[in-house]
Order: sequence, then C-alpha cells, then structure tokens
Amino acid sequence: MSMTEPSLGDWQPSELEENGRELLSRIREHQETIRDLPVTSRRSAADLQGLFAGPVPEQPTHFKELLDETFETVVPNLTQWHHPSFHAYFSNSSSGPAILAETLTAALNVNAMLWKTAPAAAAVEKTVLDWMAEMVGYPRDADGVLVNGASLATLYGLAAARDALTDLDVRERGLAGRDVPQLRLYTSDQTHSSVEKAAITLGIGTDNVVRLAADDEGRLPPEALALAIRRDLEHGRRPFAVVATVGTTSTGAIDPLPALSEICREHGIWLHVDAAYGGLWRLADAVRPYLGDLELADSLVINPHKVLFCPMEATALYCRRTGALPNAFRLVPEYLRVEPEDAAVDYMNYSLQLGRQFRALKIWWIIRSFGRQGLADRLGHAVELSQWLRDRAAAHPQWTVPADSVLPLVCLRFEPEEVPKHLCATERREWLDALNERICSAVGETGKAYLSHTVTAAGYVLRVSIGNIQTRREDVEGLWELLTATAAEAHHHMLSPTAC
Ligand SMILES: *Cc1c(COP(=O)(O)O)cnc(C)c1O
Repeated sequence: MSMTEPSLGDWQPSELEENGRELLSRIREHQETIRDLPVTSRRSAADLQGLFAGPVPEQPTHFKELLDETFETVVPNLTQWHHPSFHAYFSNSSSGPAILAETLTAALNVNAMLWKTAPAAAAVEKTVLDWMAEMVGYPRDADGVLVNGASLATLYGLAAARDALTDLDVRERGLAGRDVPQLRLYTSDQTHSSVEKAAITLGIGTDNVVRLAADDEGRLPPEALALAIRRDLEHGRRPFAVVATVGTTSTGAIDPLPALSEICREHGIWLHVDAAYGGLWRLADAVRPYLGDLELADSLVINPHKVLFCPMEATALYCRRTGALPNAFRLVPEYLRVEPEDAAVDYMNYSLQLGRQFRALKIWWIIRSFGRQGLADRLGHAVELSQWLRDRAAAHPQWTVPADSVLPLVCLRFEPEEVPKHLCATERREWLDALNERICSAVGETGKAYLSHTVTAAGYVLRVSIGNIQTRREDVEGLWELLTATAAEAHHHMLSPTAC
C-alpha cells in the first residue's frame, strides 16, 4: 500500500519571501501615508467586535487576502501609536531596524531561558544591557535582565528588596501565620500604579505603601520621607524600600535622588528607581545634567520601549546588589540543570519568566543602526520640539505651563481671561477645567492629533508627549495651531448662552 504524503508543513521558504515582500510594501505604504490617517479610531466597540466575530475558519485563507483584510479592518481601527502626532501617554515609535529584528526573532524562535539554550542571544542581551547601563550612568557590572515592561520590572526589583531582608526569610517561610513586622514601602503620590500593584502581589499590602505628598514640582520631599520612616520605626514597623521616580507619569518630575539615597543608606533601606520614562533621555545633552545620579539606585528600571524607538515590549531591570535578583528568583529543577560555565548568564534566574523571547536583538539592531550619537541626536531633537511648544504656550497670554519638565512632556492649560460673570474662585477653576477637558477631546476628535491629560494643583491639564522618531518641526507647529484654534472655538462655545 503506497502512502502519499499530504501537503502539510509550513509555507515554502520562497512563499515566505514572496509574502514578506508584499507585507513590507504594505508597511511602506502605511508609513508613507500615516500623516493622512486619523490618529484615533471612532468605531464603537460593539461594531468593531462584529467585524471580527465569526466561526472558527475551517479552510485556509490566502495570505494576500488576509493582508488586504488586515489593512482594511485592523489597521484603520487602531489608535495609531506610530503617528507623528500621537502625543498621548508616552509618545514613542518603532523604527526600521527593530521592525525587521522582530521578524528575525520570530524566524529563529530561540528560547533565551538559559545560556545554553540560546548562547548568542544571552551574549547579545548582556551586551545591550551593558550598553544601556552606560547610557544611563549605571554600573556595567550590575546584574541586569530584559523583561516585558516596567510594571513587572518594578515587581521584580521590589521582590529582590523584600528577599534581601535575610532575617525574615520570606522566600522560605512566607509572610503569613507567624510574627513578622509590617513591611513599609515609601514613595510619592506621583508614583506609577505599578508600585502599588507590586505591593499587592508581594504580600506587602496597599496600606503599607506610604504615598507622601509631592512638593509643588511633583517631587518626593526628602524631609517628609525621613519623618515618615522615623515615625514608622517608633511604631515597630519595618521600612524596607523607597521607590523614587525619574520622570513621573503625570508631569515628568524627577525625584531628588541624592537626598533620598542618603536617607535610605542611613536606615539600610533599598532604593528602587523607576526611570521607565526618564532614564534613557539621559542620552540627550539638554537632559543629562538634570537627571540625577541613577547609580544611587539599588535597583533601576528603564524602558527602551518608551524612549529608544523600540517596539513593545522591552524593559531593562538592573540591580547593583549583585546576587539579589537570583536570590529572589533562582530555582532550578533537574530538567533545567546545566554545567556551570564561566561568563555564562542564565537569564531565567533573574525574573519569574522561564521561556523568554530573544528580546535583545531589536535593541542591538537599534543601537548598532543609529549609533549612540544618532540616538542622542534624535532624542535631543524631540527635547527641542517640546521646548519650542512650551515656549509658545508660556509666551501666549491665554496659555499657561502649569508644570515644567526637562523631559519632552509638555503640560499646558488654557486660561483665558474671559469667563462667565459671577463665578467664585472655585467655580472659575472648575469652569476652566471643563474648558480644558473639552479642548482635549476636541483635539482628539479632529483625528489630526491625540493628547492625554493629567490633573495637577492647577487643575485639568493637557499633556503633550513628544518622542516619535518621525515627528518633525512642522508637525509640532501644526499641533500648536490646532491647539489654539480648538481652544478658541471651545472657549467661544462655552461662553455662548446656549452652552450648559
Ligand atoms: C510607563 C511607566 C511605567 C509602566 O511601564 P510599562 O512598561 O507599561 O509597564 C511605570 N513607571 C513609569 C514612571 C512609567 O512612565
């Protein structure tokens, strides 16, 4: 009986190449026309779900058909994070070398859990970690690992801090059912939500995250920290970590690392620095002098996927207390045991993740393709554009800059003289809040740009983050025109007698 082999298996390599060329030409077209696309999509959630819902496809679909459908239904219904006028949250972009690196990563599909399972991937990971450490002024001999985001990196850093309390031996004995002191973690009220999430996960509890009121510039005041620690010690609590932020999410504020580090050192407390946003801006000459000494951090988080033209997901976690991360995460079952080898790093020992993508390749290609200087120039340009916008607002009689930052995160508020009569101070402020909220959504509705907002002491504030590799001077000039026109219109509308 003869058996004919059914046509199983993957695409032929030639087919992959042909389809790949087709995909690349679509990406090219997308990039060449991206300025004409609305930054945000306006389809309702239910409508969008309806576009994709359907039975499990039984039969194969030709790739070209799939590609057509993707560019008709998926791409236009996204928020275009890659758009040069995307300024919400944190503006970053992918870049050519990284887009191609993601393809090669998928083609090689190595699992970088152990040195032995992907030797050159681990070596490249070590290399880019060293390079980025140098870029942000952190010691090259620190432990480091690439993870998928700053939130998890902070969780891992704080786990290392908790497990460095050797007398408590939480790793072996756990936190429950025995007499352990209340572990206390200090940060400012501007800290990222990932800090509290880490406290939840680590059994610290949100009640033990001491969120100290930031000063007028959004920074954690050292005096308040010293006081809070002293008070906790008097009550028999156990201060174990401080989280400082370099580039707060709301306004781009930078905590005073030297003073905070001094206090930490005095009490033997771990200093974790969340420089997810701010850290890599150190590459820009205009920012470097203001960033503070990141070397003071026991553990440090920086986000290439937020600053370095690197696509999601890539975060670097560093820890200068060598051995502390493996002390928290190393657990080697028999089936993963390997002969120790000099200079080999088994990255599975530095976080919770076992199976790991070859994340380092895209960072390696970015740094090699642009060079440190090329990256510094591009980041410096974004800083200049943000300063240009800040200057326009500061010089304009109706606009204010409620929070200054050395980072390219611009906070703006429209405060026209003319408001409805008979408003008391509080009402006036609320009226201006509503006006600024209206401007923020009206800008988004034009589809030409996309901003987000924050609330500071001044009230509701527009947030413009600049950092896309394609953003040019004309784009930011266009944004300023759009902002002033939209503000005038919103103001007029809210003053009109029919406005509610
Ligand atoms: C963006 C950001 C985070 C979260 O980063 P992810 O990589 O999205 O988890 C944490 N902290 C700060 C200061 C950030 O700016």
